[in-house]
Amino acid sequence: DLSGKTAIITGSNSGIGLGIAWELARAGADVVLNSFTDDDEDHALAKEIADETGTNARYIKADMSKGDECRQLIKDAGRCDILVNNAGIQHVAAIPEFPVEKWDAIIAINMSSAFHTTAVALPMMRKTGWGRVINISSAHGLTASPFKAAYIAAKHGVVGLTKTTALETAKEDITCNAICPGYVLTPIVEKQIPDTMKEYDMSREEVIENVMLTRQPSKEFATVEQIGGTTTFLCSDAAAQITGTTISVDGGWTAL
Ligand code: NAD
Repeated sequence: DLSGKTAIITGSNSGIGLGIAWELARAGADVVLNSFTDDDEDHALAKEIADETGTNARYIKADMSKGDECRQLIKDAGRCDILVNNAGIQHVAAIPEFPVEKWDAIIAINMSSAFHTTAVALPMMRKTGWGRVINISSAHGLTASPFKAAYIAAKHGVVGLTKTTALETAKEDITCNAICPGYVLTPIVEKQIPDTMKEYDMSREEVIENVMLTRQPSKEFATVEQIGGTTTFLCSDAAAQITGTTISVDGGWTAL
């Protein structure tokens, strides 16, 4: 039961972050949603969670590509028992052609943001004597593919940050772990299916099995609810001695 805890989830107005926010709220936590926009729809997402779960849910705008805004997000929330570093973007290009501004943005949003938020969150966790830091890495934090240099470097970096955070908090009731999802069916992934069907003249099933899930032996997507459930588990008492490690939710990808 996470009632009385406040969870901040970066990059949570869609996809995995939103799924994690829902699961943590269902487990009783007050949640802070975040992205870099400040639209009515963003605040409506928080209201929907609050109405449905009876928890306190808020949306706070902050751009995770900027270190000072990452730090301000945690300060604005006022309390942080559970920190989920989830914000992330992707860009696909070979290294010689990889745009420098995309490299910088991916390293900032996917990796450095977790350093900034953690730096402000840890003293807050120490004040209450309990904390959970959960970094959303990827199967690409443990393995590589061509043409995703920045993403893979950042996601590997997040695993390193996770281990260091765990060692610095090892004697306290604070843990830090990384979740490494394989392919997760989020709106962004769903939207790619029709185009890919046309491009390869394949059925939906063929695109999913033979194009998207080539490296996922289960041939099934992970779901945002499963990533949320893994996050909730890492916040439970059963997970109190799990720290500094990675949990793959990838249908066997990293076993190959
Ligand atoms: P998504 O695009 O739906 O979610 C990304 C979130 O980050 C969005 O809420 C977006 O608004 C936010 N975001 C982007 N730039 C931001 C910025 N500058 N400041 C604040 N927020 C920002 O995609 P997703 O699939 O839900 O991805 C969430 C996380 O999970 C990412 O870190 C991604 O790398 C990771 N992941 C996804 C998959 C997958 O298959 N979908 C697999 C492994 C890891």
